[in-house]
Amino acid sequence: MASVTLRRLSKVYDGGVQALHHLDLEVRDGELLVLLGPSGSGKTTILRCIAGLEEVTTGEVVIGERVVTNEPPAARDVAMVFQSPALYPHLTVRDNIAFPLELRGVARTQITRRVLEAATRLHLERVLERRPGQISEGERQRAALGRAMVRGPQLFLLDEPLSRLDAQLRIELRGELLALHRALGATMIYVTHDQTEAMTMGQRIAVLHEGRLRQTGTPEEVYQRPADVHVARFIGTPGMNVLQGKGRGTGEKADGGRVIEAGSLAIPIELTTYEGELQVGIRPEYVGLCAVDKGVGNADVLVVEPLGSETLIHLNAGGQPLVARVPGFADVRVGTQVGVKVDRRRLYLFDSAGAPLG
Ligand code: ADP
Ligand code: MG
Repeated sequence: MASVTLRRLSKVYDGGVQALHHLDLEVRDGELLVLLGPSGSGKTTILRCIAGLEEVTTGEVVIGERVVTNEPPAARDVAMVFQSPALYPHLTVRDNIAFPLELRGVARTQITRRVLEAATRLHLERVLERRPGQISEGERQRAALGRAMVRGPQLFLLDEPLSRLDAQLRIELRGELLALHRALGATMIYVTHDQTEAMTMGQRIAVLHEGRLRQTGTPEEVYQRPADVHVARFIGTPGMNVLQGKGRGTGEKADGGRVIEAGSLAIPIELTTYEGELQVGIRPEYVGLCAVDKGVGNADVLVVEPLGSETLIHLNAGGQPLVARVPGFADVRVGTQVGVKVDRRRLYLFDSAGAPLG
């Protein structure tokens, strides 16, 4: 059993930086959980606490049935692949991968077999006799993975293992990692700051923001039902638009003049009655353009990004940034004014602190 449970985990570094705040997290045995958060949100700190490389300030780390909070790294049967893979430059790929086995005094024939097995799985057979300086970045990343794999640990902690690769290779290796996870049946915690990567890899995603776990759920859950404004903003490419607004009008009829005013927009709303300060979220795909004065308000076109299959149009709606995503190429010019349409059924309302309303 290599489930991982974190209970009320907090970490304060010397010097007073609180990197983690009372974190609760459960990773199931055999699961691939993606830990997603922007740089500095505490991802590496969590992995280091699980691996035992960092002392926790308060709280508990449980691996399987065992509380390991105060146990040394060697007692935890965990393999961690670091953000920048540290291979021994003077050793060949083969010897780098074999290193943890040598260290444990595993028999030579066993070592040869296990290294070859890992190398085959990672497509490294042809570079086994080369040194790290003589192989590509992607091969180095894979060699580091291989070194983690040969020990056959029950738990893998992968710290942005693909972040330094170019886009094409990253997509390829993502697929390989997923296959590897299926083949090994091991528990994996995969850290990334890249939400696309998180959406495509994770059975579940745990979203971290400023040392707090904001939401844990399937890719669909975090996308469709973000637990707060931080998650909403972070998930999606680009993320959800969040406008500062005010609810006004509490008429009895559905169309009784209830609107949310946000910047230059006045968005009629149907069901929710909410007075006062709020934040209104809408994904870029549900924002459209129309003729001036024909939508819920007007906005100025700041930037137009044609991406081929779609165009992102960055708008200024009365001082509030708003991105519209429209299919194909759009006939809009920077510096002009446009009307804004929104799909009212797709609005998310948050209170001023960022918690969902209703
Ligand atoms: P991430 O991996 O998500 O980028 P980290 O876990 O590395 O984030 O860092 C979380 C926070 O803790 C940051 O504010 C970072 O500056 C701080 N931090 C990380 N390591 C140390 C350290 N050894 N000493 C002091 N502060 C640290
Ligand atoms: Mg990190």
